[in-house]
Amino acid sequence: MSKSNCQELLPVLVATHQTQGQRPTDCITVAEGELVTLASVCDRDRGNPDGGCGCARAFVGIRERTAVTTAVIAERTMTRDDYLREMRDSAINAGFLHPGEDASDIDDEADELLDIAAGWPVGTVVERRDADLQVRRWPGGPGQA
Ligand SMILES: [Zn+2]
Repeated sequence: MSKSNCQELLPVLVATHQTQGQRPTDCITVAEGELVTLASVCDRDRGNPDGGCGCARAFVGIRERTAVTTAVIAERTMTRDDYLREMRDSAINAGFLHPGEDASDIDDEADELLDIAAGWPVGTVVERRDADLQVRRWPGGPGQA
């Protein structure tokens, strides 16, 4: 399976300042370029991406687990395995997962995010509206949202 010295580029979702402020509920507390995953949504904000909690519009950075409402498709020199490892480490650091525990839920979520990232061109800015991710701005194009 190894492609020896060939470096793979993996499309992933990372935090971005692009289009921040387009919605009054925008926020970014994650470093630009940090890998993001999806926040789990609480009962209060379920179905309401502009709710008071903010979780239904939030991505979370994998390092500090803080929130950002905008993400961009970027390519990283990493493999799927690298990506899954980063997501597992983040879950362990956050206390969602214990070392040695079955990580299949984390892996499934990570694969889902990779599928999403592979579905849009690099440079596409996306936002989260509850269960759905949608395009906010196409690469190089005018604002779409
Ligand atoms: Zn919430």
